[in-house]
Amino acid sequence: MPEDTQIRVSYGTAIVLGLVNARQDVAPTTAYLLFDQGCIGSCSFCPRANGNQQSKRLSRITWPEFSFTTVLARLTAEPRPFKRVCLQTGYNPATTTLLKNLARQLINSGIATSMTLSPSQTELALEMLDMGLDHIGIGLDAASEETYREHKRKNWQEDWPALLRLLNKAGERIEVHLIFGLGDSEEAFAERIQEIVSAGGKISLFALTPVNGGSAPEMSAYRRMQAFRYLCEQGKTSFAACIFAGGRLTSLKTTGDETLLSALNNGEAFRTSGCGNCNRPYYNERPGQKFYNYPRALSANEFSQAFSELLLD
Ligand code: SF4
Repeated sequence: MPEDTQIRVSYGTAIVLGLVNARQDVAPTTAYLLFDQGCIGSCSFCPRANGNQQSKRLSRITWPEFSFTTVLARLTAEPRPFKRVCLQTGYNPATTTLLKNLARQLINSGIATSMTLSPSQTELALEMLDMGLDHIGIGLDAASEETYREHKRKNWQEDWPALLRLLNKAGERIEVHLIFGLGDSEEAFAERIQEIVSAGGKISLFALTPVNGGSAPEMSAYRRMQAFRYLCEQGKTSFAACIFAGGRLTSLKTTGDETLLSALNNGEAFRTSGCGNCNRPYYNERPGQKFYNYPRALSANEFSQAFSELLLD
C-alpha cells in the first residue's frame, strides 16, 4: 500500500487518536476506520451507496480522512488507545487487493482486527479469517427476503445460503449486522435472529438511522428485539418459546426458572452488541438523545426505564 493512502476515521475515533481536537461524551472503545473507494452496493439506507464517495457520512457518523500511515502509528503508539480496530468497507471487488494489504498491516500490528464485508463476500471473509483477522461483520442488514430485495437490492436466494455456509464454518467469529426498522415485523426479525444463532453466529444489532428517509423504529419495539437477541444468544429463550400477535412480540418467555427481570438485570441486552469492545457510540442517535444501543454500562435508572419500555405481557 502506498504510504499516502487515505483512510476515513470515525469522528469519535479521530478524537481519541488526537487527530481531531474536540470533546465527546462517550468515546468509542473500538477504532472505526472506513475503506471505501466507491461502493457498488445500492442499499437504500446508506449515504455512500452507488459509489457516492463524496459523502463524509456512514450511518450518522462523520468520517474525516487521514493518511493510513499516520493512523496506524497512532493506533500502535503505547499505551495503545484501542483494544480493537474495525475496518468498515464499501463493497467493491476491484479494491480487494488494497483491502487485503490494509488488513495485513493491521493484523501485523497485533491489534485485534474486525472487518465488515458484504453478504456477497463470504469467500473473502473466510480468506481474511485465515489471514488472521479476528472477527468479520457481515452486513445482512435486512431480516427477510422481501426487505432484503427492497433495501439491499440483492439476491437473497444466493446470499442467505452463502451466509449459512460461512456460519457453519466460522460462526463463532462472525457477527451478522441486522437493522431493525426496515419493515420487518418483530416476528420475522426474531425468527432471523434465531436462525443465525442456531447456525453458530452472533448478531450486531442496529436501529435504522433514517439519513436517507424512512423513520427510526419505535423504541419499545427495538427494546424487545434487543432483549430477544440477548436472551437468544445466551440460550435463555428461543423463537419457539415466544408469543407474537400481529407480528409484535407480546410474551418473551425465558427457558428455565429465571424471571425476565433477572435474566436481563445486568443491562447487557440494551448495550451495543457485536465484537468484543465494540460500542459504536452515536451510530444510531445524536448526542443527548436516548440511546438505542447504550455504548457503556447503564445506570440503575436507565435500566429500569429500558426494562419498562419492553411493554411485554
Ligand atoms: S460488531 Fe462492531 S467491531 Fe464487529 S464488525 Fe460490527 S461494527 Fe465492527
